Amino acid sequence: MGEEKRLIYLDNAATTRTAPEVVEAMLPYFSELYGNPSSVYEFSQKSKEAITGARETIAKCLGAKTGEIYFTAGGSESDNWAMKAAAEAYRGKGNHIITSKIEHHAVLHTGAWLEKQGFEVTYLDVDENGTVKLEELKKAIRPTTILISIMFANNEIGTIQPVKEIGAIAKEHGIVFHTDAVQAFGQLPIHVDELNIDMLSSSAHKLNGPKGIGFLYIRKGVKIRSFIHGGAQERKRRAGTENVPGIVGYGAAVERAMKTMEERTARERELRDYLIDRVLREIPYTRLNGHRTNRLPNNANFSFQFIEGESLLIMLDMEGICGSSGSACTSGSLDPSHVLLAIGLPHEIAHGSLRLTLSEETTREELDYVVESIRKIVEKLRNMSPLYEDFMRRR
Ligand SMILES: *Cc1c(COP(=O)(O)O)cnc(C)c1O
Repeated sequence: MGEEKRLIYLDNAATTRTAPEVVEAMLPYFSELYGNPSSVYEFSQKSKEAITGARETIAKCLGAKTGEIYFTAGGSESDNWAMKAAAEAYRGKGNHIITSKIEHHAVLHTGAWLEKQGFEVTYLDVDENGTVKLEELKKAIRPTTILISIMFANNEIGTIQPVKEIGAIAKEHGIVFHTDAVQAFGQLPIHVDELNIDMLSSSAHKLNGPKGIGFLYIRKGVKIRSFIHGGAQERKRRAGTENVPGIVGYGAAVERAMKTMEERTARERELRDYLIDRVLREIPYTRLNGHRTNRLPNNANFSFQFIEGESLLIMLDMEGICGSSGSACTSGSLDPSHVLLAIGLPHEIAHGSLRLTLSEETTREELDYVVESIRKIVEKLRNMSPLYEDFMRRR
């Protein structure tokens, strides 16, 4: 047998490892405590209590009430629910929705679907760092605007949005404000009242929790429709027997994320900056995408001129390095990322992009190996590129 291949996982924006203590917290709810939380006998009360506990943990860390947390099957469902239900509930007031060009597809494609149902959707431009322009937002508001949906932090380039200002603008105009906080929750402190957030989407598997479980925070007083019709679960808004192990795991993941946030993100920020500095310094014709400082602590996104991001990814994979050329949802398609186009990158530069997202387990030694690998691969790919050859000849 040969040496075990090393694995350097730098795709934590796509998903994260479920933490061992999270798995441990979940296990009894598969095997011993399998009761249906809706049943009346004492045995099932354990399941019910576990859900209540997780709901309390999550509500507390957002500054929300327990009755405002609705469990879903993840970020995509939460985004769909928030937008479709708010659109329907407020249709009497108007049919205009505002979002941005850099949202996750769960929001963008829901927006497109709502347009087919007769809603008008404004997709706001962003600046070169990927930040929504507040003046543009104010200008886009109409008397018929019923919903603003702007993500907390971008999953591709990491840029953090001025959520507090957006919330204040929405509140001033009496418009419901939804934010997709799937990337931000667990990495940044979030208080729904201070930020005037009316609805918030989150997903456990982005913060070391299990896949297939998320929640939608819905502020009390916001009109909302049931998303799945059936039983009385989730205050009759989202029917179906609860994913008890998932919910327990989510609670454990949130508790853990809140406890470690300060130290963990400080360390990740330092390593992120180390990675960014080295790549920009040691690899010519390279740019950083996203805001230099106002970005997620674990996100780095580069464009390397004269190369194809997909080729870079495949060659990094051969070195045991997992990265992404954009979001996991768009890989496989040949279109460049909508986010990179929205920040103004020409197609050929957007095509040469690489996203690396760190975890608490990432080490400096790993990053040294990664930088060295990128440097070698980029050089090799450029040496095979006619564009690069042409560029060097004309220089
Ligand atoms: C991952 C992600 C989603 C989708 O979440 P799932 O739980 O995988 O459905 C939505 N929005 C953002 C910003 C994400 O990063």
